[in-house]
Amino acid sequence: FSDRDGYIWYDGKMVPWREATTHTLTYTLHYGAGCFEGVRAYETSKGTAIFRLKEHTRRLFNSAKIIGMAMPFSEDELNEAQLEVLRANKLKEAYLRPMVFYGSEGMGLRAAGLKTHVIVAAWTWGSYLGAENMERGIRVKTSSFQRQYVNAAVCRAKANANYLNSSMALNEVLKDGYDEALMLDPEGFVAEGSAENIFVVTDGVISTPDVTSALDGITRRTVMKLAEDLGYKVRERRITRDEIYVADEAFFTGTAAEVTPIRELDNRAIGSGSRGPITQKLQATYLAQVKGQREEYPEWLSHI
Ligand code: PMP
Repeated sequence: FSDRDGYIWYDGKMVPWREATTHTLTYTLHYGAGCFEGVRAYETSKGTAIFRLKEHTRRLFNSAKIIGMAMPFSEDELNEAQLEVLRANKLKEAYLRPMVFYGSEGMGLRAAGLKTHVIVAAWTWGSYLGAENMERGIRVKTSSFQRQYVNAAVCRAKANANYLNSSMALNEVLKDGYDEALMLDPEGFVAEGSAENIFVVTDGVISTPDVTSALDGITRRTVMKLAEDLGYKVRERRITRDEIYVADEAFFTGTAAEVTPIRELDNRAIGSGSRGPITQKLQATYLAQVKGQREEYPEWLSHI
């Protein structure tokens, strides 16, 4: 992925893609102390726009605050950097990856004296869990790795180190032929996917776990709002895995995954075993919203 044309915004400068490198003694490479975002830009009738840019940048700054990292740029500067990366790479639709990391000014765990670096990369990225799965739904397996415990990890931060857990969970189930992992919290209740929040639909009511151990997803918040606007009841509550087995519908939400139906959990078909009607409605509404095809919430789109 490093050997390609394009530009990466690196500490305030637009750097050719292949030259956006860093030293092997980079603190974050050793200890995982960094944070990042996953953001999407869509083509709208008024040109390319980043969806909920300000909210993503805000979460990045909150993540940095949680892990005690000083940010060398302002939120406005990073918002502008993300728009600039799309322009420099002439991208109409893209996934953006801002990331904040400590440099290689010293070794050992002491972070004092280290510089904070920031990159923003962007590239074209289709459906994260497969285009055909947006209709068919995916096959999910409960992971043998649990989601982190709130006081052993910083669950509210989108911190690099948290993703060892997600990576192990996902790659374990991929090897067994599934599409995504479901992670349970340390008490055994449903938390989220390896990079998505989860929703279930039973008797027309939409439920999702709270964000004690799951990431406070921006797509989650968006979908909850859209669902309420459409007149659905949305509840945040504890959910068990066997409750999902017998739910009418289930789906994942995430910036990369958008709204992805779940057709199976642990080899049990959920509902009809394909995308359910409420999932379909929310998926269509979400995609229309991000592509600027709805009149509601124009403030969610930042045009380049
Ligand atoms: N949970 C985890 C662990 C994630 O990595 C992501 C992706 N950022 C999500 C949930 C979904 O968050 P969002 O909707 O903000 O992309």
